[in-house]
Amino acid sequence: MPKHSATLPVTSKDLDPEERQALLHNADDDAEDIASFESTESQPRSSTRRRITITAAAFIALLITGTLARTVLFSGFSPLKDPVSLLGLPSNGTEAFKRTVLIVSIDGLRADYLDRGLTPHLLALSKKGLRAKSMKPIFPTLTFPNHWALMTGLHAESHGIVANNFWDPVEKVEFHYNQISSAWNPAFWLGEPMWETAEKAGIVTANLMWPGPPKTTSGASSTYFIPWKNKVPLKVKLDQVLQWIDLPFEKRPQLIMAYEPSLDQAGHWKGPNSKLVNDTLVKVDKFAKDLHDSLAARNLTDIVDIVFVSDHGMTDTSHPTQVFINEILGYDGLKAIEHEDGWPSVGLRFHSGANTTKHLNALLEASYENPERFAVYTHETMPERYHFANHDRIAPIYVVPKIGYVLTTNPDGDDPMSKGNHGYDNEERSMQAMFVAHGPFSTDVKAQHQNRALSSRATTGWHSTADDTYVMETFQNVEIYNLVMKLLGISHYAANNNGTTGFWDQYL
Ligand SMILES: [Zn+2]
Repeated sequence: MPKHSATLPVTSKDLDPEERQALLHNADDDAEDIASFESTESQPRSSTRRRITITAAAFIALLITGTLARTVLFSGFSPLKDPVSLLGLPSNGTEAFKRTVLIVSIDGLRADYLDRGLTPHLLALSKKGLRAKSMKPIFPTLTFPNHWALMTGLHAESHGIVANNFWDPVEKVEFHYNQISSAWNPAFWLGEPMWETAEKAGIVTANLMWPGPPKTTSGASSTYFIPWKNKVPLKVKLDQVLQWIDLPFEKRPQLIMAYEPSLDQAGHWKGPNSKLVNDTLVKVDKFAKDLHDSLAARNLTDIVDIVFVSDHGMTDTSHPTQVFINEILGYDGLKAIEHEDGWPSVGLRFHSGANTTKHLNALLEASYENPERFAVYTHETMPERYHFANHDRIAPIYVVPKIGYVLTTNPDGDDPMSKGNHGYDNEERSMQAMFVAHGPFSTDVKAQHQNRALSSRATTGWHSTADDTYVMETFQNVEIYNLVMKLLGISHYAANNNGTTGFWDQYL
């Protein structure tokens, strides 16, 4: 619901539903619901034909060199029946597979949820593979900015999704994640997502509800795309992923992205320490086990890399201290607000005729008096580590509450907040996301680690715990794009991004 009014959220109805209750209401009850899960499976595009052509051309070239001709002559083997085995591709024993990456986002899985003793299967995967202490989300620590950062390797000021809802002053249009007119408008989504890069490299990709648009401005799309729908059981998602994995060689995706929101919804509704979060965590963990077991049954654990990530954490907001913006700005100041972006960190744009300097000073004075409550930034004073200043879509004034505080105009003190929330400083412990990986990539990393340990060389960034889990130091989620590029062997196709050059070289 775009907010053009001059008031900050007052009632639960006014607040952004995603930020209050995750994606609970955004699809099932929404007239603008994106098309249904069942009816939207797309067909492979012409890229498949392109690949077939390329493969055929490669074989003609091999035949010309005589290498393949000799192989065929002396083995009696027909290259047309099973050409891929001659290219040295890995096999699960019965079929050739290309190296495959499956990236799964469990929305709102706070890094330290994994220490609750409720996720034995995710931890078992991390023991075979690896995990990070945590993965640092971009600022603001919201779902859509972070899912697009994971896809593009870009900070919000570069990828343009600066909040779940925001005003674009150039186009003079509001973005809202829950309105298909903006959520699927490619013009909002800057940068190149990993599925676009992969498609450029001739790779078949599949997108199961990952937050973001089906197409970018260049017209690129994933080969398969299943749009967001609420409350789709994990079993259905598992079956869809496996259906893709079981496709014939030429149609099978090599990059699969999948999204699950239930844990975030539970965290918003009942809080991060609730039984509902713990129960949902157990279900998510079971999904991780089922996914791994299904790949193991296909003898694919040495071929498919599974990367589990989340977008941000969750903090308890059941008893927040309220900061009354109306008391700080006064009636005139409140009325002068033209646009508010985001929540709980709020971007403010005042009417062109308003005394913005006066209103900004009022906010600054209030934050100086109580620096433990909230901070006020302009583009000039925004902390550099947020990478959140250099874009027109970022409101000129941003009010960023500290953990434990919320911005409100509610004079009654009647708490309209959900019991859990995120969107705070991305260095806060409770905002940290998770990273667990298993597959050939993680096995290689582990072997390297052991070799380094044996040779007594420095193992910077690593430490092994008593239970033999290899734990990476916390890293930023903008590194994920380059990881997937590297795993797919298409780094030379990678778009410019905010990942650290060479970051994965020490591991891969
Ligand atoms: Zn989220």
